[in-house]
Amino acid sequence: MAVVTQHSALSTQHSPGFTLQGCDTSGSMARWGTLHTAHGVVETPVFMPVGTQATVKALAPDDLRDLGAQIILANTYHLYLRPSVETVAALGGLHRFMRWDRPLLTDSGGFQVFSLADRRKLTADGVIFSSHLDGSRHTFTPHTVMRAELLLGADIIMTLDECTPADSDHAYNVAALGRTHRWAAQCLAAFSELRQQRNDWPNPAPMLFGIVQGATFLDLRAESAAALAALDLPGYAIGGLSVGESKEQMHTVLEQTTPLLPASKPRYLMGVGSPEDLFECIARGVDMFDCVLPTRLARNGALLTRQGRIPIKSTRYALADRPIEEGCACYTCRNFSLAYLNHLYRAEELLAYRLNSIHNVYFMVNLAKEIRAALIAGEFATLRAAFLADYKVADRAADAAQRAARIASIQRKA
Ligand SMILES: [Zn+2]
Repeated sequence: MAVVTQHSALSTQHSPGFTLQGCDTSGSMARWGTLHTAHGVVETPVFMPVGTQATVKALAPDDLRDLGAQIILANTYHLYLRPSVETVAALGGLHRFMRWDRPLLTDSGGFQVFSLADRRKLTADGVIFSSHLDGSRHTFTPHTVMRAELLLGADIIMTLDECTPADSDHAYNVAALGRTHRWAAQCLAAFSELRQQRNDWPNPAPMLFGIVQGATFLDLRAESAAALAALDLPGYAIGGLSVGESKEQMHTVLEQTTPLLPASKPRYLMGVGSPEDLFECIARGVDMFDCVLPTRLARNGALLTRQGRIPIKSTRYALADRPIEEGCACYTCRNFSLAYLNHLYRAEELLAYRLNSIHNVYFMVNLAKEIRAALIAGEFATLRAAFLADYKVADRAADAAQRAARIASIQRKA
């Protein structure tokens, strides 16, 4: 109740939108700010846990509040197919349906639909696809996607875009980018039109973000940033990264793209990242992140620490009477030993998934907060160097396998 009161007070003071509060002075492009939404304030840089099916896997809303999550994601494609956006709207919208009173973001479903390579067909207006659940046919257009996202009622909603494969050529990306830009303008028109038609959408003040595409072609990224900036949207995402390109390519795209986006608007890097990605991409001007990594790793028994990932099933932890990480303030580390977590995981007990997920999600959410605090204190460069010196990055092959699994899971059930 206290949270609701606080959010109401804040939302009457600020209309939805971003305030850039400061920039790193030690030579990076990092910055910090606050994003005001109808359901409260998000302090950036921020890591957003992913709740594909209107639930962050294995975690209840109370777990997410306790570990300090400010904003979470849900996936329009999945909720559109099941239970349907009309069902969610009839039950009061996504916030009420899933009992989450803080900010929410929904994607447009474009990423999922375009991942269904053999199940979708482009048309002049949008894309026809068959459901991975039952094969039924559906059409996503800018209008149907805006309607679906308004019915869900998230605070931040995304335009329909085409996320191209990492190996697609320049000519294909030129054509895809034309669609993405046309759809962004059509989404903005549909967003305004639908909100004028009725005033009882679940969310009183949603914000529409556009998505910059262009694969690893810097000329196309520049063209995309300019085309979307011209629409004067309240925020911009950078999509089509972490889909198979190298980290170096991702960093180059970010370095070239973020300076072309309006400094006064938040920048959201979709589907990224790992702990090291947070540092590297914040240093290149990114404010918001989402990734299934912490929850997926947790379910696979990989726990995040300042030194790197540890495999909880290893017999080396069978008698370890200490937390995952000394000093970690999460519920799991405050209460349970590595030995107990090792036992739960080996016994395939359901509690293993919850306790592992609490720690991993806390790790990412808290790391973004730590980076924000360091930026404000003028110590970002120091923290970045110290963290990256200690943190052992998971090997490339493991990372590539995870990315492939992320894309494959969309076609199963995520
Ligand atoms: Zn912990």
